[in-house]
Amino acid sequence: MIENVIGRYSLPFALATNFRINERDYLIPMVIEEPSVVAACSYAAKLFRKTGGFSASSDEPVMIGQIQLLDLRDLAKATEAILSHRADILAEINAGAGSIVERGGGARDLKIRKFEGSRIGNMLVIHLHFDTRDAMGANAINSALEGITPSIERISGGRANLRILSNLSDRRLAWASGMIEAETLVTEGAPGVKVVDAIIEAAVLAEIDPYRAATHNKGIMNGIDAMIMATGNDWRAVEAGAHAYASRDGQYTSLTRWWKDEDGNLHGRIELPLAAGIVGGATRAHRGAQAAVRILSPRSARELASVAAAVGLAQNFAAIRALATDGIQRGHMRMHARQLALAAGAAAEDVPGIVQRMIDAGSIRLAYAKEIVKERKQGS
Ligand code: NDP
Repeated sequence: MIENVIGRYSLPFALATNFRINERDYLIPMVIEEPSVVAACSYAAKLFRKTGGFSASSDEPVMIGQIQLLDLRDLAKATEAILSHRADILAEINAGAGSIVERGGGARDLKIRKFEGSRIGNMLVIHLHFDTRDAMGANAINSALEGITPSIERISGGRANLRILSNLSDRRLAWASGMIEAETLVTEGAPGVKVVDAIIEAAVLAEIDPYRAATHNKGIMNGIDAMIMATGNDWRAVEAGAHAYASRDGQYTSLTRWWKDEDGNLHGRIELPLAAGIVGGATRAHRGAQAAVRILSPRSARELASVAAAVGLAQNFAAIRALATDGIQRGHMRMHARQLALAAGAAAEDVPGIVQRMIDAGSIRLAYAKEIVKERKQGS
């Protein structure tokens, strides 16, 4: 799959449970090294499930590819020339686009953006909108861009430099929403309505403050990345798209919105670009990814994107609920203690006992874990 390989590097492969999305049940394959993510996601899905689960959808899988055109004498004339050949250009792309066109995809549109007075002068950037069907589509659209470049140069009189997809795939958004009844959120110390308010307060901070939004969105991506990685998709592409989209109005903000209805119940919605596929890339080459896709069994890349959006919303809910109630450390520390016990060289069967001792002593530290492991070894 890649170059200069010295071995394989494996990560835990887990399933998040309880997901009901658009009245269908899903097991969510997740590959991730971080403790608590899968448990939190499954717990959140269980609460959403009580009110019927998530509603989710996504756009047609239209990617954007860019051609950077330089050395143009007259930007307006070049723009006019390209747009007057729009139909021919789209037809030429589709003639070379392979099976994607037979499957109903292919070139959809051309848009032209103008940049004047940059450090290297003026330029046009051509945007190709290309429906990649069930593929993430990076290779497919990059090939289309390279294939059409000679015609674009001839028509415009310019010189093409970059020809590459944009990871800000804002024509390919996915969104999900769901509701949790306030009474479901009761804790020992607070009635459900108070918890709803605390969750909304936490969510508003992420809307207005980039320092909080970065962490809030990181929590969302804990779930989405794990599923994207399990299914053999390019999580860096999804990450790049998500964070660029979170900045689309000039200030980095939250990818979710949380509010309450007149009965005090909590509602949430997420929206983000989700360029991921069920064919192509590593989904074709990696047996684990193939198994993950089979477990999830999405019928299309659009369905995969919708499910990923619901996973992001669930993960976000779990994080802000914990933060707005107990704080996340209570749940995290047991998992953290497990990792420390393993790092200290504990045998798998000794881990639960060591974890309990660390918790009882209120000392979740590597040095203490080592001390207990040493003590046990000396005792045996
Ligand atoms: P592939 O080229 O592997 O897969 C797409 C191809 O699969 C299509 O062109 C088509 O080829 C075939 N295909 C078969 N069935 C279908 C179907 N139902 N729908 C659509 N296509 C189908 O990969 P992608 O184009 O998806 O590119 C993804 C890869 O690109 C990832 O590995 C990613 O990491 C990488 N990448 C990402 C970049 C970025 O994000 N910036 C940049 C460059 C690469 P055919 O016509 O032959 O049947």
